[in-house]
Amino acid sequence: MAALRAYHILDTAIEDDYEELTELAAAICGTPIALISLVDEERQWFKSHRGLDVTETERSQSFCAHAILNPTELMQVENARLDPRFQDNPLVTGDPHISFYAGMPLVDDEGFALGSLCVIDRKPRKLDETQKKALKTLSQQVINKLILRKKFRELEAAHRENIEVSLKSKESEHNLRMIIEQSPAAIVVFRGEEMIVDAINATMLELLNKEADIQGRPILEALPELKGQPAYDLLKDIYLTGQPVSRYDTPVSLHRNGKLEIGYFNFTYAPLMENGEVKGIIDMAVEVTDQVLARLAVEESAHQMREMVMNAAMGMCIIRGQDLVIEIANDPMLKIWTRTAEQVIGRRLTDVFPEVVDQPFPDLLRNVLDTGEELAIPELTADIAEIDGKINRKFIDFAYKPLRNSEGEPEAIIATVTDITETVKSRKLLEQSRTKLQEANVELGTVNEEYIALNEELLATNEHLRRAEENLTRLNKKLQEKEESLRLSVEAARMGTYNLNIETGIIEVNNYCRELFGFSDNVVVNVDDGFGTLLEDKQRIWDAMQYAIANHTLFEEEYRILRKADNAVRWLRAVGKVSDPATSGSDKHFYGTILDITERKASDQLKEDFIGIVSHEMRSPLTALKGYIQILEWKARKANDIFTKDITKKAVRQINRMTTLINGFLDVARVSEGKIYLNKTYFDLTDLIKIAEEEALATISSHKIIFHPVERTIVMADQDKLEQVLLNLINNAAKYSPNNSRIYVSCTKRDAWVRVSVKDDGMGITMKDQAHIFERFYRVIGAKTENISGFGIGLYLCKEIIDRHAGRIGVESVPGKGSTFWFELPVASLSETIH
Ligand code: ADP
Repeated sequence: MAALRAYHILDTAIEDDYEELTELAAAICGTPIALISLVDEERQWFKSHRGLDVTETERSQSFCAHAILNPTELMQVENARLDPRFQDNPLVTGDPHISFYAGMPLVDDEGFALGSLCVIDRKPRKLDETQKKALKTLSQQVINKLILRKKFRELEAAHRENIEVSLKSKESEHNLRMIIEQSPAAIVVFRGEEMIVDAINATMLELLNKEADIQGRPILEALPELKGQPAYDLLKDIYLTGQPVSRYDTPVSLHRNGKLEIGYFNFTYAPLMENGEVKGIIDMAVEVTDQVLARLAVEESAHQMREMVMNAAMGMCIIRGQDLVIEIANDPMLKIWTRTAEQVIGRRLTDVFPEVVDQPFPDLLRNVLDTGEELAIPELTADIAEIDGKINRKFIDFAYKPLRNSEGEPEAIIATVTDITETVKSRKLLEQSRTKLQEANVELGTVNEEYIALNEELLATNEHLRRAEENLTRLNKKLQEKEESLRLSVEAARMGTYNLNIETGIIEVNNYCRELFGFSDNVVVNVDDGFGTLLEDKQRIWDAMQYAIANHTLFEEEYRILRKADNAVRWLRAVGKVSDPATSGSDKHFYGTILDITERKASDQLKEDFIGIVSHEMRSPLTALKGYIQILEWKARKANDIFTKDITKKAVRQINRMTTLINGFLDVARVSEGKIYLNKTYFDLTDLIKIAEEEALATISSHKIIFHPVERTIVMADQDKLEQVLLNLINNAAKYSPNNSRIYVSCTKRDAWVRVSVKDDGMGITMKDQAHIFERFYRVIGAKTENISGFGIGLYLCKEIIDRHAGRIGVESVPGKGSTFWFELPVASLSETIH
């Protein structure tokens, strides 16, 4: 059955070829019916049915089914009605009333009987030999036709398959070429034993420095330079063995960008397999120049780094990885460590120096690796154990710098360490002597203040004295004794008195005054003699005196003289006044007192120098101190050590206070050097007050501070400096008033001026002190202020700043009731503001 189906003949249309054969069979055998019958499982189907209408019958009724049982023999039934096999067959008993049947089986070249060619008659008969032979020949014809048909179909199928396969291979070849052409890698495909350049892309052409015309040429013709080269043997080998080969980072000379360059490539040679056989080689090259150069650069810089470390004058080492392995260390470093190279190189830092585990270094190092941030700390103590275990305390400056790999990640640290133990020791000695100096200086300051107070008292006394003196001369010469005693007391107070007769130019001076100026006794002194001693500022002093005389105001000046007797330079402070014509008789007099203030000036100078030194010298240790405290704080935070955390927080607050103080000192130094510069901008005072409010609320918890009313006002000023002024006033208000009292800050406009005031309910200031508190180093001395620390520079700086803004600053105060400090600035005009 399967054989029959392979012919694909069942149920096909009528075909002339077969019709002709049945016609011939019927004619030769003289029968009305001739059939080509093909037998399948259930039926017999007629490819040709001459003389019969039906196209098929059941298999059970089939004569042919019998005929094919003996495939090589012609079956002949002369009279079916008499044959027991067929007499009941409906084809015999009914239509078409078969009587005679002769069928020759159709057997194909493989021996399968497919059916038969048969002739049928309705009456009994018998074929002669010629007819039999003809029937056999015809059946052979039928079978030939069937075989031909089958072969033809197979051929057709094979052909179709062929077309498909060739289409597919064309497609895949096309795809391969596309891939090759578009690949960013350089690719060349060699095919066949001769290794013909079968496909090559532009990248590979460029790499080989060839033109596209090498395609289709054998390798040795295309690339003659390969002959005798290892690369050629390699290709041959792959062709023979079918084993792929890779070569990494291979340097290749390239003509690129108009010059000869070295590029680096990873080559892969893979066999091109077809049906399990090597048919060619795919050579693929990926450029890795950038990566190789980056790696070489890293290697080179690592090499340079090592050179630098080894040749450095200070201690240097490289420590690698989270394990902190000492990679290299130079001689100065080994000296600090008191170790030899063999004892440290390639070992963990913590193994070589177990004592550092409890010191901050390992954590600091790892932190540099984690964050990639550099770290430098001056003057840290390091306890380093010598090889015998003896601990050496050293002072070191150190810096850690991360070393990065080609991906930019920190993977090692280069540490620079300078041993400053000797420097620190000698500095400590220096500091001790400086402390002593400072103590002496403070003492001097107190003495000086006493002098100032005395001086003022004396000045007041002097006024009384003068009056008394006048009264005495005018009213009673008898009182000369008293005058003499007064003179003596003035003398004792070491105060010079003078009385210039403006008309004659003669000056009466007391003995102390003679001593001050170096005038010998009994010599008449005139005004030129006096001015002759002045070292500078002659004109200024003269003008001031003339002004006081003309306006009846107080003359008050400080100046330097060159004392005649011993050529000593002295600082003097002179006060004076023109006499009242009502009391002084005919001639006009100008009289007053003179004090030697050389000592005070020297002490001021000392203070100034001290401030200069302190402020400059203290800044860097303070910065370092802040650094240490921050380390400590960081460590405490890490260890969750609440106590230390709290202490470090307080320490930072104290350091900030100290920084403010030092900045104040610096400002004083700058003022005296004339180096205070303003950075003026237009801004709204409201903003300034807002900032001061935030700052004050954050730092002052002892007082209630009320900011009201605050009017919007634009000024042209240095915002930072004004903030400093306002905070200073607020801090003073808090400092000089009882805890829990109130402080009122306001900002109000009046005409072209804006006034910022700070009012407190504190101890207040006497009129006498009010006149001086804006002076440098001036502090109110008294029981109430005794325990309040300060330097007397805050208000001085405030005044300097406000003066430079062309503003005004002042105080109103009632002792015991409180003080209102204020400053005023010109308001920026609208047109100015717009510009
Ligand atoms: P310091 O406060 O450091 O002494 P200042 O220059 O700020 O220096 O002040 C000078 C002096 O003015 C202070 O010593 C203090 O006696 C006095 N003073 C300042 N502000 C007030 C105030 N609000 N109430 C009372 N006295 C004050």
